[in-house]
Order: sequence, then C-alpha cells, then structure tokens
Amino acid sequence: MVGGGILGLAVAWELTGRGVAVTVLEKEDRWAAHQTGHNSNVVHAGLYYAPGSAKARMSVTGNRSIVDFARAHGVGVEVCGKLVVATGEDELPALGVLAQRAEANGVPAKLISREEALDYEPEVSCVRALRVESTGIIDFPGVCRALVRLLTEAGADLRLNTPALGIRAGRGVEIATGSEVLRADALVNCAGLHADRIAELAGITPRARIVPFRGEYYQLRPDRRHLVRGLIYPVPDASLPFLGVHLTRMLDGSVHAGPNAVLALRREGYRWRDISPADLVAVARFPGTWRLARRYAFPTGLDEVLRSLSRRRFAASLARLVPAIGPGDIVRHGSGVRAQALFADGSLVSDFLIETAPGQVHVLNAPSPAATCALEIAKHVSDLVTTS
Ligand SMILES: Cc1cc2nc3c(=O)[nH]c(=O)nc-3n(C[C@H](O)[C@H](O)[C@H](O)COP(=O)(O)OP(=O)(O)OC[C@H]3O[C@@H](n4cnc5c(N)ncnc54)[C@H](O)[C@@H]3O)c2cc1C
Repeated sequence: MVGGGILGLAVAWELTGRGVAVTVLEKEDRWAAHQTGHNSNVVHAGLYYAPGSAKARMSVTGNRSIVDFARAHGVGVEVCGKLVVATGEDELPALGVLAQRAEANGVPAKLISREEALDYEPEVSCVRALRVESTGIIDFPGVCRALVRLLTEAGADLRLNTPALGIRAGRGVEIATGSEVLRADALVNCAGLHADRIAELAGITPRARIVPFRGEYYQLRPDRRHLVRGLIYPVPDASLPFLGVHLTRMLDGSVHAGPNAVLALRREGYRWRDISPADLVAVARFPGTWRLARRYAFPTGLDEVLRSLSRRRFAASLARLVPAIGPGDIVRHGSGVRAQALFADGSLVSDFLIETAPGQVHVLNAPSPAATCALEIAKHVSDLVTTS
C-alpha cells in the first residue's frame, strides 16, 4: 500500500480482515498528513452526485459505515444534519434539482420554507432551503488513528518516513524506498496528490492527471460563533466539482468557513508562496490544463483568486448565507489541497476513478466525498486486489 491517508489505511484494514498481509508506506512522519488531515470533516449524505455514480452509491452507504465505525471505536462524530440555502429566487430551480437528485440517490431531504429554515438557523438568509438530516461532522484524523491502532494490533507492517521512490512491476511488484527494496504480490496506490505519479512509476499511463486545487479556510471569531448553529451550504454551481464556501460547525464548537478553490502552485502547496517549478511545468505541459483554463479562468478562476487574496471578499461570500458576518468576524484557519483528476480534454473527472493492471490497483481520483466513502472504497479496492 502506498499512502497513509484515510483510503490507504481503510484499504489496509479491509485487506487485513480478509487475511492479507499488508505493508503500508507513508512518506511523511505522520498518518493523514495531507488531504485527510486538512479537510472539512463533514460526513456527506450523498445528495450532490449523479444518480448511479460511485460517489452517489458509496456516500449513502459510506455515510452509515463511517458513522458506525466512529461510534464503535470512540472517534468523535455527530449526525447534526445541514441546510442548503437558496439565497434568491434565481437559485430555486437549482435547489429543486438538488432535491430531486437527493431523492434519486435515496438521501432523506426535505424542501422547507424560509420560516422553517430560520428555526434551524436564526441568522440565515434564504428564500427556501433543503434540509438534509444524515449529514454529520466527524474527526477524520481520529478515524485514521483508530485504523492505525487496529492495524497495529492485527500485526500489519506500518511504515512512516518511507516514500515509494521506484516501482518495478512484473510477477509481483518491487518497491524501492531509498533504504531497501520491498517485494509484494500486489500494489495498491492510494497516494492522493501523487497518485498519477505512482501509477506512472508502476508503468501505467494514467487516463487523467492530478491537478492540485487549494481550499482555504477561515473560522469565526469565538464571540461570533453563535451566528451559526450547524452546517450551512449554498446551492452549488452544477458545472463545478466544488460545493462553494460554506459554514461548518466543528465537533469542538468552532465554526469553519470555506473552502474556496484556487489552483495550488505545488502539489502540497498550502500557501501562495509554496511553489514547485517541477509541478508547474508538469501542469503546464498537460493539454487538459489549458482546456480547463479556457473553460473556467474567467470569471470563475479570477473570482476565486481575488477572494483568496481578500478577506473582505471571502466574508462577502459568507454574508450571502449569514448577513451578520463581516470581515472583522473571520480569521484565517489553514488550508487543504484537493487531488482533483483532470482528463486531457480539460474536463474534471467527476466520479471516483480507479485503474487496474495485473497485481496493481491505482486510486486515481478520490476527492470529496472520498473520506466519507472510505470504508466502501476500501471494500471495492480490496475486491479488485483479490481479483486483479
Ligand atoms: C479542502 C478539502 C476539504 C474536504 N472536505 C471533505 C469532507 O468534508 N468530507 C469528505 O468526505 N471528504 C472531504 N475531502 C476529501 C477527502 O479529504 C479526500 O477524499 C480523502 O482524504 C482522500 O484520502 P486519501 O487517503 O486518498 O489521500 P491523502 O489523505 O492525501 O493521503 C495520501 C497519502 O499518500 C502519501 N504519499 C504520496 N506519495 C507517496 C509516496 N511516493 N510514498 C509514500 N506515501 C506517499 C501522502 O503523503 C499522503 O499521506 C476534502 C478534501 C479537501 C482537500
């Protein structure tokens, strides 16, 4: 297993349960160091995704399995529900489509009036809302800690500070880590932001490349937390894979705002000043990047950059949902980088993408809601490992 985020650990746990001896390689000095440790910690319900897609199917079942796992292993979780709010009449058709999609996906959701929405969120601005009961908040790094504990007790070989640097695939696989060469019957690639590179090292030409999209967060000042009781989301732009900046109450009572979506200048680029010339050249040489830029650079991309640079603009996006929020009410609160795969034609890969070769399984697109779906993706990947 290459990658010690929630997917690598969940697949390792599933395979261990099936009697497979697993070694997990993680290049960092801690588990869940990247996407899993920098996300919104929301257990998604599954309402956004195309009916029949892996995202739709797995988030409905994954919503239940990750909550059950957390409860069984003492990990923080709360099924608190959420509101998706239409802030103007012009958003009502899209809210209606979302309600239909929720129904098609088997997600319990109810269209409610402005007055009913105000019972849930007294400060919200909306003309109508969709109430979703099965959305929750969770401690995803805590899920990883529990998985590491279980894997350790089961005797799995877990290695931090161990990057996979070279791979030779043939009969079985050989993985060079810098200090040694490991041999295995099969390779599973859950390397997140580096998944396409690991696939290439293993001799696969992936159908899509990873493009890193940073999502920046603010949080409400403690004395303004009362403005938000739970989770408040905008009606998403159906042409984009991201949900729009939203307000999320965390398990510790703090309220996070975000994430936005700007192109990161490094695969693990958490700030504007984190720049990798090699990553930029790779992005620039991929034809999909330019096609994507033609589609989204103006005005969407430019707006996102301006909002990233301006607290006032960020606060204005939040004030559409909760008008009482002003620029003085929010403080920066870190960021995460999404591993979003992109086809060469410039279209963003909307569903999970997994490719196989004999003795190899590569998870090439597992952005949100993959943390919610982790235990379901783990079952699917484990089936592929045992049949590939
Ligand atoms: C801003 C943001 C918000 C999100 N919000 C949510 C949410 O609320 N709910 C939800 O369900 N999902 C959310 N997601 C998505 C979710 O975080 C990811 O889908 C999930 O964490 C993916 O897990 P992973 O294990 O594939 O990737 P990661 O957690 O990125 O793990 C991959 C690991 O592979 C390691 N690795 C890479 N290359 C190598 C190598 N060569 N050798 C060894 N190790 C290597 C990395 O160091 C890393 O630890 C969000 C993501 C982001 C970025």
